[in-house]
Amino acid sequence: MEAIAVMTSGGDSPGMNAAARAVVRTALYEGVNVYGIHNGYKGMIKGDIQKLDSRSVSDLIQRGGTFLGTARSKEFQTPEGRQKAFNNLKEHNIDGLVIIGGDGSLRGGAAMSMEFGIPIVGLPGTIDNDVWGTDYTIGADTAANTILEAINKLRDTASAHRRIIAVEVMGRKSGWLAMTTGIAGGAEYILVPEVKFDLDEMCHELRESYDRGKRYSIIVVAEGACDAIGLGTVVEEKTGIDTRVSVLGYIQRGGSPTVEDRMKASMIGEKAALALLSGVTNKVYGFDSGKVVAIDLFDAVNNKKTLDPELVRLARVLA
Ligand code: ADP
Repeated sequence: MEAIAVMTSGGDSPGMNAAARAVVRTALYEGVNVYGIHNGYKGMIKGDIQKLDSRSVSDLIQRGGTFLGTARSKEFQTPEGRQKAFNNLKEHNIDGLVIIGGDGSLRGGAAMSMEFGIPIVGLPGTIDNDVWGTDYTIGADTAANTILEAINKLRDTASAHRRIIAVEVMGRKSGWLAMTTGIAGGAEYILVPEVKFDLDEMCHELRESYDRGKRYSIIVVAEGACDAIGLGTVVEEKTGIDTRVSVLGYIQRGGSPTVEDRMKASMIGEKAALALLSGVTNKVYGFDSGKVVAIDLFDAVNNKKTLDPELVRLARVLA
């Protein structure tokens, strides 16, 4: 291989920089040219492609976001758009691509692989931890820690006022972030899209626990489960207890990546580059039970990850 390229795409997540840095430095170490594609598929279509050297990825490992920029592109969803993107890769003699992004971005990579036969290796980059075949995605740990810090602070004020606080967290259709931070944050209720919940029963239990002297309750709500603001109104009406809602929003996406995100992103970044250079294609590198694994790209995008039932059980036991 003469040159490979790396890009970040879709929603940004902390640790994408560490992953891209690992890809760049590994390729250079192996004596292969490496290009950065700016702003995801949008930049690939525009030809926003730049040769990188070792210094291009200096001072990055500690930064959230992505130095390459990211974007969503409607045009890339059309065969014409993808053809333009592929032509730009050819123009730079790029013969392999590492895509760092969520399931949408990986789906885009699968489409390119099928249409043009270009070798593709993916890295799961999303705070949602919703990519099939890997129990780790880049950025989910940092986001979970950011949420946990917010829950800790919300506990203080909830306790002071004897309030119920509902915290809405990200995750799109996945309840992983809510479930993990709900358990780690000691939430009384965790509402996730994967598990049905009984609002009346929850309100009844909340009222009873307040009557028994409980000072406050935290409800962690996954954005895919229900609208937290609407939920807060109903809970206050049904329980008669002062209820506040905190929608954490985009702060969950940012911040300096945790040790876990820096280490794992670096490990799979190296593996992705080495795999591509040795002729591997259509793989996504992730982790299973603490070990790096290579998942088939098509399996990764065609299967839906489910929420670990052990976590659901644990949440019930500990609430
Ligand atoms: P994420 O990668 O975070 O899941 P998106 O779902 O928005 O984010 O996907 C990012 C981009 O990947 C989209 O804007 C689009 O350009 C491309 N993409 C998503 N799904 C497909 C698909 N089925 N075919 C081709 N490209 C796709």
